[in-house]
Amino acid sequence: LSDKLDKALHVLKGHGSITEVNVAETLKEVRRALLDADVNFKTAKEFTVRVKEKALGQDVLTTLQPGQLMVKLVKDELTELMGGDAEGINLSGNPSVILMSGLQGSGKTTFSGKLANYLKNKKTKKPLLVACDVYRPAAIDQLHVVGEQIGVEVFSDRGNNDPVAISQAGIAHAKANGYNVVIIDTAGRLAVDEAMMTEISNIHKAIQPQETLFVVDSMTGQDAVNTAKAFNDILNFDGVILTKLDGDTRGGAAISIKSVVNKPIKFIGTGEKMEAIDVFYPSRMADRILGMGDVVSLVERAQEQFDEEEARKLQKKIAKNQFGFDDFLKQIQQIKKMGNMKDLVGMIPGAGKMMKDIDIDDDAFKGIEAIIHSMTPEERANPSVINSSRKKRIGKGSGTSVQEVNQLLKQFTQMSKMMKMMQGGGGKRMMQMMQN
Ligand code: GDP
Ligand code: MG
Repeated sequence: LSDKLDKALHVLKGHGSITEVNVAETLKEVRRALLDADVNFKTAKEFTVRVKEKALGQDVLTTLQPGQLMVKLVKDELTELMGGDAEGINLSGNPSVILMSGLQGSGKTTFSGKLANYLKNKKTKKPLLVACDVYRPAAIDQLHVVGEQIGVEVFSDRGNNDPVAISQAGIAHAKANGYNVVIIDTAGRLAVDEAMMTEISNIHKAIQPQETLFVVDSMTGQDAVNTAKAFNDILNFDGVILTKLDGDTRGGAAISIKSVVNKPIKFIGTGEKMEAIDVFYPSRMADRILGMGDVVSLVERAQEQFDEEEARKLQKKIAKNQFGFDDFLKQIQQIKKMGNMKDLVGMIPGAGKMMKDIDIDDDAFKGIEAIIHSMTPEERANPSVINSSRKKRIGKGSGTSVQEVNQLLKQFTQMSKMMKMMQGGGGKRMMQMMQN
């Protein structure tokens, strides 16, 4: 899926100008890519129609960077398609009973352990794991190993081959021993069949869990959709767990499943270890499907260049009013290291409009650097000592003029003020100002 979307969006990204034909072409590619990823025809079609309407509404054609706006629109729409904000697990019962369902090998046992560990770390929760995979003794052992690893008790009954009875006994054990969450791990088979469906449905009816989760291997493509549908028809489950998202799977299954069963994806599994569990965030998944958005790469690039320790020191200095020209110089150098200024600014959402009339190039800092280099260490640390005779000297030494020195001093004062404001919680307000 991702390759195709990449290609479709690439057309737009590369273009300085864009035509209506271009938008239509791109959306056709996007639709084809979605269809290929098992999204049903209606959903895919509605998807592209909505993106197109939004594109025309925002007048994509007249913006500075139509390609990036299109990427954003596609991303936002994908995010919506995968379902708004992250949804938690219903833990209102006492105990709260969580039932796992899914095929064999989808990751039920592993996820049961991950979830128990995740809840246990929340301090207010005391989970119990219950082993209801009665067909393979090894499956019970597996859950015990997991339980030991994370320090969570596992309830099992090796002599018993009735999963309904075991799950009920497990819940009774939880009640008697002060556990407030019960996670029931069940058996799966390699494909959907009647015996499995009857069994899970019987357990479901008998224990009436607060939360029924469907666990699915994200690498199984079209099959994942069919399986999800089959389980949902029987269980009307509450949420989906998408496992094995740690490889190079881009997560197209998330769109397909969501579009077919319309249930929230709640968690993702990203590895075999007990810590490899993440809350599902649709916008992150959209980034992943789109091969990471521009904003994400901007952040990464920035992180590479900005030494965290340096940043912390700087913050302290700003707070103590000790920010000087030496720090300013460092900042400029950092910014220069990050690459072409115009590209970088273009990646910031909302900044495109703001930067329209301002022409920045990488040489813009040359004069500034020269002026700072002509200052003495004392002047750099404490700019207020720079009187008119010092200004003359600095102007001469840097090959600039007193006016330019004055201008830089003025800018510097403004910047110092701005940084103080950002620190004092004014940052959000400033961002809003910038985006309007
Ligand atoms: P079950 O049959 O549904 O209980 O599946 P298991 O929990 O036994 O998992 C099957 C296999 O998938 C095991 O080898 C797990 O280690 C592996 N597995 C489970 N979840 C993940 C995951 O998120 N990432 C990776 N890489 N492997 C996983
Ligand atoms: Mg298992």
